Amino acid sequence: MQDYETLLKRAEQKINRADVRERFEMPIAIVSVQGNSTTIANFAELARTLRREPRHVLKFLTRELAVPGELQGNRATFQGKFTPEQLRMKLERYANEYVFCSCGKPDTDLVREDHLLRLKCQVCGTKRVVKEIG
Ligand SMILES: [Zn+2]
Repeated sequence: MQDYETLLKRAEQKINRADVRERFEMPIAIVSVQGNSTTIANFAELARTLRREPRHVLKFLTRELAVPGELQGNRATFQGKFTPEQLRMKLERYANEYVFCSCGKPDTDLVREDHLLRLKCQVCGTKRVVKEIG
């Protein structure tokens, strides 16, 4: 016999499941602060997981963090001190804006059409215009 709470919980879980996009394994950013700059050691790997150009991700982060940043091999260094949590939130925002389709899939490409940058989904075919960075 199921009580009301169990049923409610199950209903909630269903809603959450429908709501939450397919789980996407974003590697954890390896962040270190030295002096007044912050380095992400595995930046190239993060960009690869997002299937985006490291330079594009970097541009987004420098704009979001409002500081200069540069790529050095696999690493990206930003001026200023940032916590791993701050950087993770920015990377998630990037993923939401430039990687995930509204259908929840990360299988997308950035394409330029009619002078506009669009996110094109390989799964459902949806295209939406996204903001230019920089
Ligand atoms: Zn889609």
